[in-house]
Amino acid sequence: MTTITSATTGREWEYVIGLEVHCELATATKLFCSCPNEFGAEPNTNVCPVCLGLPGSLPVLNRRAVELAMRLGRALHCTVEPSVFARKNYFYPDMPKDYQISQYDQPTNVDGWLELADGTRVGIERAHIEEDTGKSTHVGGGGRIHEAGYSLVDYNRAGVPLVEIVSRPDLRSPDQAKAYVSELRGVLLATGASDAKMEEGSLRVDANVSVRPVGETSLGTRCEIKNLNSLRSLGRAIEYEARRQIDLLESGERVVQETRHWDEEGGRTRSGRSKEEAEDYRYFQEPDLVPLVPDPAGIAAIDESMPLLPADRRARLAEAAGGPSAAATAIAIAVERGLDELALQAIAAGGDPGRVLTHIEHDLAVDGAERLDPASLAALVQMEVEGQLTATQAKQVLAEMVETGGDPGAIALARGFEAMDTAELEAVVDELIAAHPDEWDEYVSGDDKRRGKLTGFFVGQVMKATKGKADGKVVTRLLEDRRAGTN
Ligand code: ADP
Ligand code: MG
Ligand code: ZN
Repeated sequence: MTTITSATTGREWEYVIGLEVHCELATATKLFCSCPNEFGAEPNTNVCPVCLGLPGSLPVLNRRAVELAMRLGRALHCTVEPSVFARKNYFYPDMPKDYQISQYDQPTNVDGWLELADGTRVGIERAHIEEDTGKSTHVGGGGRIHEAGYSLVDYNRAGVPLVEIVSRPDLRSPDQAKAYVSELRGVLLATGASDAKMEEGSLRVDANVSVRPVGETSLGTRCEIKNLNSLRSLGRAIEYEARRQIDLLESGERVVQETRHWDEEGGRTRSGRSKEEAEDYRYFQEPDLVPLVPDPAGIAAIDESMPLLPADRRARLAEAAGGPSAAATAIAIAVERGLDELALQAIAAGGDPGRVLTHIEHDLAVDGAERLDPASLAALVQMEVEGQLTATQAKQVLAEMVETGGDPGAIALARGFEAMDTAELEAVVDELIAAHPDEWDEYVSGDDKRRGKLTGFFVGQVMKATKGKADGKVVTRLLEDRRAGTN
């Protein structure tokens, strides 16, 4: 468990985090009109009377947006409910209708969960459909509205379909919050619901943060940090905000529930507006749209065509690699990088699962790794198992295989990586022992820790002498044999 220890009182505090994630749906057109849903177009060119909120215009719901939202809901194990659109009324220059069409007390998707790579299940309260606003740019004054010289507004984004995914307050550390967003991103990509690009704003995160003493079960007062646009900012903002709240509480003050903004350069959160209540928005049912009733056959079709999600792919690879406890980190990395299919096929072709996963984790974080031939990876691993290649040599051969797609046997041969003869290796080890009598004495008589260090020393010397051709494991064994012989 990740806790924060107070510097002044030594008290242990716990993070409580709930995330609200907005993602833009990957439709061709906007939610209620036929304007293109497109990032990066010339400002104010993808607009029409509907998304500009001109009098007399009427919304027509985009079927594809609804399908994608429901698909996402099912991928998050939600129930798809009959839902109702509502008007959320407030004024802002980037929202020309002066209200946002959203869902309020009857959202489309309710009550699901998302499983993280560490096995934690994070509750999903709801995932509702709404429209995006336009985008304001405040020019001058550091980009903040109060100090700006003037502001520009682009309505291209107004009316783009969004799903807002609201988690339960189940996250317990900044790293877990980051892992949740990564996992959600994986689900969005797998279902095709969104391109989920944080840098283009098609995935935006608000973090609700509170703290409580370890052992306390009720929830503390939270603050909501708006619009975090990278995983790094998310982690830093949560950590800063939790410490700020702990300082307040420990000096006898209260946390005031409010919206806060993350200042990336200053590394701190700043107070925004005080928390608005639902009443402030004067929600009422959108009179221009009918309620949305899911068709059971449509939901069944969504379930049937659901692709494998990251959690399914992790489970599948773990199964192939020898059970649920197998190399969890390597498996998570394989799925995240899209190398799980390669790993599965290499294992199916007879590759030792542990070694295949070790290469995926440590040596294949490179472009082109996904094009590697699984049978060649299996063959490489087999050469290692049989002692024809050392781990260091295998890495080099693998790097070349990624570059050229060549066969591991041929590459090893061309590089002169034939297996080192054991007798030859023994002679090298004996020479080095003779050349370093003090180190050898220490190796023989030292404690385990000392011996560990000196093992490293001798293996290093052997590697140098053999230009990396020796197998470190064999050298270690030879050293042990010789030590046993001296007793
Ligand atoms: P609102 O609609 O005002 O934003 P919600 O009740 O819908 O409020 O909650 C929004 C988010 O805040 C959810 O993600 C929820 O998990 C989270 N949350 C609620 N209470 C707390 C708390 N005490 N600490 C941290 N997060 C919380
Ligand atoms: Mg909120
Ligand atoms: Zn339009």
